[in-house]
Amino acid sequence: MKEKVTPYLRNLANTDAIKRQYYISADEPADEPYNDPLLEDTHEVVKGLVHKYSNRALIKVSYQCAAHCRFCTRIRQIGNLEGALTATDIDNIIAYLRQHTEINDVILSGGDPLYTPAITLQLLERLAGIDTIKVLRIGSRLPLQLPTAITSTAVAPLLTLIKELSSRMPFYILLHINHPEELTNEALAAIKHLRTLGITLLSQTVFLKGINDDATVLEHLYTRLYHAGVVPYYLYHCDAVDGIQHFAVNIAKETEIASILTARLSGIACPTYVVDVENGHGKVPMPLNFLQTGGCITDFKGLQHTIQ
Ligand SMILES: *Cc1c(COP(=O)(O)O)cnc(C)c1O
Ligand code: SF4
Repeated sequence: MKEKVTPYLRNLANTDAIKRQYYISADEPADEPYNDPLLEDTHEVVKGLVHKYSNRALIKVSYQCAAHCRFCTRIRQIGNLEGALTATDIDNIIAYLRQHTEINDVILSGGDPLYTPAITLQLLERLAGIDTIKVLRIGSRLPLQLPTAITSTAVAPLLTLIKELSSRMPFYILLHINHPEELTNEALAAIKHLRTLGITLLSQTVFLKGINDDATVLEHLYTRLYHAGVVPYYLYHCDAVDGIQHFAVNIAKETEIASILTARLSGIACPTYVVDVENGHGKVPMPLNFLQTGGCITDFKGLQHTIQ
């Protein structure tokens, strides 16, 4: 995956937490034969549509993003122009979704759906016409990679459609954010703009070694997101993809941090810590450090309680 950084991020690159997410480091293995341990390609039932859970499906709108994150799960694909959905691909996806009425929740991902607004607009218009789809979501990092793009004329028609759809059905925008330093004034302004659309804003974070594997850093991130109107959703262990393992944090350390966060944050501000298991069927919530053997639980102050 080529190095790709926006001018906005380049200006922030004196911030170590941002530099390490976007610039190639000496730790990154060269020419890795990238794998697909989450079996997304196996579950890609038609071009662009990953159907892994029976009731939800994920659509890759393209393989393009404003900037390339060195720890991307889809490092095997990102930057490749062939991922962009064509009109025929969209027809095939819509036909599949009309046939598979068990799918009621569709996630647009990629690549970044807000980075290719014209394709996303075409797709959303078609998805909105399928009665069996009850919930729509878009995953994006654009508000953190190029915040001014959110208020650009190129994205405006897509946001107008999203606003209209959000009055008819639950519509979620899921931001990928890993460190409080990403919440600049520009990023907060983009988030504020998205909040006017009537959508629900969620966030997802991946644990990254030396960047956010620290309870205080994540406590600040989640407090600031909560105060900005964003609800933290998932906190991931780094996926078992070859070529990104230098970012992976030890599970015991992550479990300890996730347990501390539960003690410090409101339930609303605290994400679910999950591992997307290799060759498996998705995101498994990880047990935290509160349950002891014998049915005893330890509370936030370290007191033991027996529960029936
Ligand atoms: C994460 C994911 C989903 C959605 O999972 P939720 O737990 O509902 O957020 C759907 N499909 C795929 C392939 C996924 O990776
Ligand atoms: S924005 Fe998301 S899809 Fe794009 S490179 Fe970063 S992690 Fe991967």
